Amino acid sequence: MDRASTRYNGPEGQEDMPYLLTPGPLTTSRSVKATMLADWGSRDVEFRKVVADIRKGLLAMAGCDASYECVIMQGSGTFAIEAALGCFCPAGAGRTLVVANGAYGDRAARILERIGRHVSKIDKGDSAAPTVEEVAAALDADAAITHVWMIHCETTSGIVNPIQDMAKMVKGRKRVFMVDAMSSFGALPLDMMDGLDVMVSSSNKCIEGVPGFSYVLVKRDMLEGSKGRCHSVVLDLYEQWKGLEANGQFRFTPPTHALVAFHQAMREHAEEGGVAARGERYRRNAQQLIKGMRDMGFTTLLSDNQAGPIIQTFLTPRDPNFDFEHFYEALRSRGFAIYPGKLTRRPSFRIGTIGKVDDRVMAGVLKAIRDVLAEMKVTDLSPLEA
Ligand SMILES: *Cc1c(COP(=O)(O)O)cnc(C)c1O
Repeated sequence: MDRASTRYNGPEGQEDMPYLLTPGPLTTSRSVKATMLADWGSRDVEFRKVVADIRKGLLAMAGCDASYECVIMQGSGTFAIEAALGCFCPAGAGRTLVVANGAYGDRAARILERIGRHVSKIDKGDSAAPTVEEVAAALDADAAITHVWMIHCETTSGIVNPIQDMAKMVKGRKRVFMVDAMSSFGALPLDMMDGLDVMVSSSNKCIEGVPGFSYVLVKRDMLEGSKGRCHSVVLDLYEQWKGLEANGQFRFTPPTHALVAFHQAMREHAEEGGVAARGERYRRNAQQLIKGMRDMGFTTLLSDNQAGPIIQTFLTPRDPNFDFEHFYEALRSRGFAIYPGKLTRRPSFRIGTIGKVDDRVMAGVLKAIRDVLAEMKVTDLSPLEA
């Protein structure tokens, strides 16, 4: 297949690799990638300054006052999730309510069960947001619930949940509010001062760094109170924090390249115009993609007021000639890696609209999709029944 004629060779340094239209790892800038062409010592003064800068910058980006701390954890986003759940959720009396509407909510509940914590779950399925009223009712019905865990953008579908309104209600009822803002932080507004006690995110989402670490923003008194409570040595956020505070070093080998790349990615995030500008570019990507896909005949899972700018879910067409594996491979060979669906009920696929991608990349993937559908002789794009 003639890739050169279908793809846009942008400034990302991805000429021989597909654009990653996924929720992470995602396409990063060439300048972010270039920072990794050096080896840093974990004890170096310069490296320790990079780590301190990142921690400070993340706290500032989330609007934190001096009562919050930032702890960086090696590993993907789920490592910070398990760390936060294990350090802050009650082990004896007390219970955590997980508000789930997709795979990441289910995963948090599964982690709590595995580490022996009491957990309740509100399960909204795949494509509905929880309402403040129903979560309030769950809290009022069970005084044992002390903590609430919720996802900001549920990447399973791309739906954005109302964390600000929820925070207000949860804090009004004197419970601890914890948020997985993995796939939204840096692109959707989030202010810890609105009533968030804990927030987790990772290096390879909307800040546009490479995979390797995750981080937790948390009230310092909660961190101090968690001493000795973590079920795991490596995931112990209190110990990790003490290490970083004592000498600016990690307890165990840090992902030096990923941290240096993230430092550069934060600089580029600020240069672009911060959270507002990053979110605006993603919103333009999403609007262009959704319009182009609907013009072809595809159906989105979510309505426009539910869908965020992070990732878009399209329902699998009913045309018998449509085969996802073929579709995926043909798009990949044209320079675009999309993402399979993860819904429990409806066959679907997803296209991410985050990362160092813009209108030219969106135009490229839309053209590639039209070409591949013609090649596959797919004409009926109406969705398969649920
Ligand atoms: C990406 C993501 C995670 C973390 O997944 P990892 O594969 O562990 O990085 C958690 N929650 C949400 C909502 C995500 O999008």
